[in-house]
This record gives sequence, structure tokens and C-alpha cells, in this order.
Amino acid sequence: MFENLSDRLSGVFERLTKQGALSDEDVKTALREVRVALLEADVSLPVARAFVKAVQDKATGQAVTKSVTPGQQVVKIVHDELVHVLSGDDANPGEMKIDNPPAPILMVGLQGSGKTTTTAKLARRLSQRNGKRVLMASLDVNRPAAMEQLAILGQQIGVDTLPIVKGQTPVQIATRAKQQAALGGYDVYMLDTAGRLHIDDVLMDEVQSVRDVVKPRETLLVVDGLTGQDAVNVAQEFDGKIGVSGVVLTRMDGDGRGGAALSMRAITGKPIKFVGLGEKMDALEEFHPDRIAGRILGMGDIVALVEKAQETIEAEQAERMMKRFQKGQFSMNDLRMQLDQMLKMGGMEGLMGMMPGMGKMKGQMEGAGVDDRMLRRQIALINSMTKRERANPALLQASRKKRIAKGAGLEVAELNKLLKMHRQMADMMKKMGKKGMLKGAMKGMF
Ligand code: GDP
Repeated sequence: MFENLSDRLSGVFERLTKQGALSDEDVKTALREVRVALLEADVSLPVARAFVKAVQDKATGQAVTKSVTPGQQVVKIVHDELVHVLSGDDANPGEMKIDNPPAPILMVGLQGSGKTTTTAKLARRLSQRNGKRVLMASLDVNRPAAMEQLAILGQQIGVDTLPIVKGQTPVQIATRAKQQAALGGYDVYMLDTAGRLHIDDVLMDEVQSVRDVVKPRETLLVVDGLTGQDAVNVAQEFDGKIGVSGVVLTRMDGDGRGGAALSMRAITGKPIKFVGLGEKMDALEEFHPDRIAGRILGMGDIVALVEKAQETIEAEQAERMMKRFQKGQFSMNDLRMQLDQMLKMGGMEGLMGMMPGMGKMKGQMEGAGVDDRMLRRQIALINSMTKRERANPALLQASRKKRIAKGAGLEVAELNKLLKMHRQMADMMKKMGKKGMLKGAMKGMF
């Protein structure tokens, strides 16, 4: 999977990482090659374009981390962007909503996409890895061979299939599967719907009526990864008509290009949950965007190196800051950083939620006007100060105070409150520093 793309990209980045310094032109040339490589891998044009632009923006804005070369840094940015494209930043794309037994899983897709095989692979995985009791049923009434295929696979992997009753409609079979799953104490029942060679209304109507009867917890679309952009088009159509919760890309063992995987999340907004990597029953992998990105780039070492270097820098910064605080040097910039940090951590609400016993105090704090809006107002006040004033707020005269408050659209009283809070914090940090307590207190801040 992804061999060709991987070869192309590692070629580009090997050249880049060997260079000590990088000009904007070097980065641009490299990114042009990345774009060509993506297009050759059958990634859709808008996705390839957006990808290159995102990398370019991040690469130009980025401070170069000590102890890695600029080229290595670019590799890391490309890696992170690949993860983003592949996952849309879902924390856990492979997760399945199958609590509350019996949970119905609807398997949909075109004929020949590998739907029946994937149904069985997934059933095996759920029963063997997750210890679920699974029942499978084929709804392909037009192709008795397909029903038998599922029954045979079921025997092979030790998963039950619903007995075949001739002459039933897909909805009748689905209803029987639902009842059987409830009566038989199954955790999950999987419905392998009929496929067609092309999307047609009869097929969609059929799948819709099954969907309405069982109300699937997951509707997984199986698409052939070898078909590249077509796979993405099929996914869009199925999602529009049926609504899918995730995608399984099959035949990724045969694809050296992998474009479908890269475009899928960006264009359809649906996560890839699994990939099929062969005909055997164990050839199904959960989709891990970071591992895939690592495989595509083939440069896991560099990504790890840059991450480590960034961590070290952050640790050094924190250390330096603490030394200053111990000496009582706590500037308005430091305060602003802390306020920003609080907002990032989910604001007052988020912070209170993290601290045991603070739930009750929340109301009181809100009563006193302590909330996210206040944090933002305080940040605005600091932003209206000059650099010198931020370093040494004692310089502030009454006239400047008025100007600053006005600049932030607030009253001087509010600024005075902020200044008082700042002085108290600086004093407290100094005291804590003397008693050696500062390090512990600061741990939670970074
Ligand atoms: P369906 O018509 O969608 O149900 O497709 P099938 O499940 O019958 O699969 C069609 C063919 O594709 C079978 O020969 C499968 O063994 C094969 N197949 C399914 N998934 C994969 C895969 O991930 N990799 C490879 N190489 N073959 C697969």
C-alpha cells in the first residue's frame, strides 16, 4: 500500500533533509514535487492543492527548532498534514459504536467491492478480538451463491449465520436477523446487503428500507481502494442516499498509489475505519492515520526526532521561565501566556471541571464575574500595553491607564484589578520560589 507515493516522497525529502539551510525556493520546489507525487497517486486535485498550501503556510510561519535541520522540520509538517488529511483529526477513526446489544451493523457497497469478505473479516475480528457474539445475515436475495458464500465463511471463522429461508425479501430477512439476534443473545448482527455493479435506484431503495427497519448503529461502506477517485465518488453517492458512518477500503494490498485513502476523508467527511489487505480472513487492519502517514513518508525517525526536539525546547523554556519567576520577575507577558493557557484548556469551565470539588464553586465564581469573557478582557488589556509596559507595569501613569483601558474598550477600574492581580501573583511566585514550591505548582501549567 502506498509504495509508489512513498518512494516519490522519500526521494524529495531525502534531498531536502541533507541541506543545512533551506531557502523559500527550496521548499517551493520540494512542494511542487509533493503535489505531482500526490496527483500521480490519484489524490484528487483540490485535496492535493489544499494539502500543499497547508504545508507551505505552516513551513513559512514555523520557527526552526534547534537541533533539527529545516528539511527535517518540513518532513514533520508534511507528516502532520498527512495525518490531518487522513483522519480529519478524529481521535479514533476505527472505533465502532456497538454497545447496547444487539447492535446492527449494515454493510453496503457495490458488487465485487469485497463486501461479503469484509463482513466476515470484521465479524471474525469482533468475535475474536473483542469477544463479541456476532450473527451475520446475507440479504442478497438475487444471488443465492452470495448467501452461501457468507455461510461458508461463517463456518470457517466460527461465526453464526442466519439460516437461509428461500423466497424472503431483504426487509423480511433483516427483521428475522434482528429477532434472532435479540432472542439468541448476540451482541452484534451484521447485515450484508446486496450489491450491484453500478449504483441504481432499486438498490438504494432496498438498502434504505432495510436501514429504516433495523436502524443500524454503524453503516459501513465497502469500497475497492484500487478504483482511486471512483471509490470517493461511490462513497459520496452512498452517503447522500443512505448515510454512512465509516468506510472500509479493500484491496489496499494491491495499491501502490493509495490516492483513494488520501482523498476519502477530505472529500466525503467520512472516516476510513478499516483497510482490507488481502483475501484471507485476518487481512483486515484498523486504520491508524499516524501509522499510515509514517508508512507513506517512510521517515518515522525524523518525525520522532523533531517531536523530541520540540519537547526539549518547551522544557527549556519552562525552566528559564521558572528561574525568572523565582526572582520575582513575572511580566505581563507571562500573565498573558497563562491566561491564554487557561482559555486553551477549556477556559474556566474546563479548569473547574478538572479540579475535584470545584463544581460547586462554579456558580460563585460566575457570580463574581470570573468567566471566559473576563479572561478575554484581561488579555485584551495586556495587548493594548506597549512592550516596555508589559515588562514593567509599574511604569503605568494615570493617563496611559486611561488610554489602555479605552484601547481595550474597558474601564480603568478593570485595568487596576488586573494590575493588582498581577502584583499578587508575582509576589506569590517569589514566595513559592523561595520555599522551593514553585516547580511543583508549575508542573500542571505546561
Ligand atoms: P462482494 O461482491 O462485494 O461481496 O465481494 P466479495 O467479498 O465476494 O469479494 C470479491 C473478491 O475480492 C474476492 O475474491 C475476495 O477474496 C477479494 N477481496 C476482498 N477484499 C480483498 C482485499 O482486501 N484484498 C484482496 N487482494 N482481495 C480482496
